[in-house]
Amino acid sequence: MTDRPYHFAAIVGGAIAGSVAAEIFADRGIQAVVIEQNERPYGKIEDGLPRWHSEQREQEYLRIDARLRKPGVFFLPCTKLGRDLDFQDLYNNWGFSVVVLANGAWRDRQLGIPQAEEFIGKGFVYQNPFINWYNRKNQAGYAGPRYQAPDEALVVGGGLASIDVVKVLQLENYERVLRSRGVQTDVYELEKKGVPAVCKMHGIAPEDLDVKGCLLIYRRREQDMPLAQPPENATPEQIAKTEAIRQKMLRLAQEKYLFRFQDRRVPTGLLIDDGRLVGLKLAETKVEGRKAEAVAGSEYQQRAPLVISSIGSVPEEIPGVAMKGEYYDFDDEALPRYVASDHVFGVGNVVTGRGNIRASLLHSQEVTTKIIENYIGVTDGGSAFARFYAGAEANRAAQAHAVRDRVQVMPGLSYLEIAALERRIRILQERVGYTGNYDSWIARVRPAVTASQNFAPESMHQSLSSSAFHCGACR
Ligand SMILES: Cc1cc2nc3c(=O)[nH]c(=O)nc-3n(C[C@H](O)[C@H](O)[C@H](O)COP(=O)(O)OP(=O)(O)OC[C@H]3O[C@@H](n4cnc5c(N)ncnc54)[C@H](O)[C@@H]3O)c2cc1C
Repeated sequence: MTDRPYHFAAIVGGAIAGSVAAEIFADRGIQAVVIEQNERPYGKIEDGLPRWHSEQREQEYLRIDARLRKPGVFFLPCTKLGRDLDFQDLYNNWGFSVVVLANGAWRDRQLGIPQAEEFIGKGFVYQNPFINWYNRKNQAGYAGPRYQAPDEALVVGGGLASIDVVKVLQLENYERVLRSRGVQTDVYELEKKGVPAVCKMHGIAPEDLDVKGCLLIYRRREQDMPLAQPPENATPEQIAKTEAIRQKMLRLAQEKYLFRFQDRRVPTGLLIDDGRLVGLKLAETKVEGRKAEAVAGSEYQQRAPLVISSIGSVPEEIPGVAMKGEYYDFDDEALPRYVASDHVFGVGNVVTGRGNIRASLLHSQEVTTKIIENYIGVTDGGSAFARFYAGAEANRAAQAHAVRDRVQVMPGLSYLEIAALERRIRILQERVGYTGNYDSWIARVRPAVTASQNFAPESMHQSLSSSAFHCGACR
């Protein structure tokens, strides 16, 4: 018996869920490689949270860094599952004990109107590319699609992310107009203090600024908006309280950012002019429980210079990964096992679809712990075979039996098998210029932020962008 780890996990995606899984595996003596498509492992923290969340982003970056630099964690950046690695090859042939999908939800749910997709970039945009553009548009090397943030845009949504989309539009428009009047402000001040407060500081009435504001539409009632969630098995009083919180959140956001809102509206068609989308046909809805159906004869036209769809994100399709509707085919949310393999699991947003940092973190903690204890069979801080049985003894007899069965199905890896996996990973790391040291890699792809830059977020953003190094393998 050796002290070498007996197991090796492959984790796809390095952000909240992936880094949490890697840390838990490493803490239990199980080696883990984190396969990340981008140079940096920050996922939606970098490309989802709008850039005014600069402090929160910085804290989450540091937490992710701390998890990924742990001994026993291998980081493999600029390597995309489905492009650089084949999914079935990864779980069938590489020899990993488990494969954990932590690749989040990066595909916008489709608007649901036939032909809408034809107008992407022509008056129509989805939330994920729009926020990505917004966060990166001032970066020196930004080469992605460019969008406008015109006044009177129409946003289809209702969740927290759609409130952020609305804020982007309002902040961009008020900043532009205030600056044109000689007022030195920026999105950070406007976001923090709110538009009316900044206007007041400069003796201006917001209604004199000729900003009409974007319009957010939601298909159900305003109190149904998923801005806050009731506890599980909530009482009628708890549900009523949650509904009141949602209404209050909406009202506060409207007071601060001055956008327009209309509930019980659903898009039913496109308004097209000269090859561009110039608005949507909308209908009123009748809401009964979760159902929101268009009311016959209530349709009208809502023109807008830009339509943004922000109705949720789902996992990207990856060649070889079986789908169940919009999600990968996992059998259960509590211990989501991929149906076609007994050693592929999912953690975080890729399973839950809940766009929330804490939800991804907790889900990854719970599922990874279950994978280790119920599937791999290691109960705490160890790696040797003996610990399988030590763990099993601590459980009820039936569980112990199940663990022993698993051990027969998935024995620990030999020293040679572990060494072979390490070698293959090193070759892939070298391919993208990663030398094996997480901190020096991050220093190359993410220049340090100084304290003074923290007080000048626009320049901080410029500096974050000016990473001189690009591996060339990823975008
Ligand atoms: C506009 C917006 C605002 C938000 N605001 C908040 C907020 O205020 N508070 C909050 O709690 N949450 C917020 N969220 C949600 C939150 O950021 C996410 O839910 C959470 O960070 C998801 O973490 P995750 O690790 O599950 O997934 P992700 O962060 O999506 O991580 C997945 C990782 O997998 C990588 N990956 C994807 N595909 C592949 C592949 N094929 N191969 C290799 N790697 C891959 C990605 O690059 C990424 O690093 C917001 C989201 C959006 C879009």
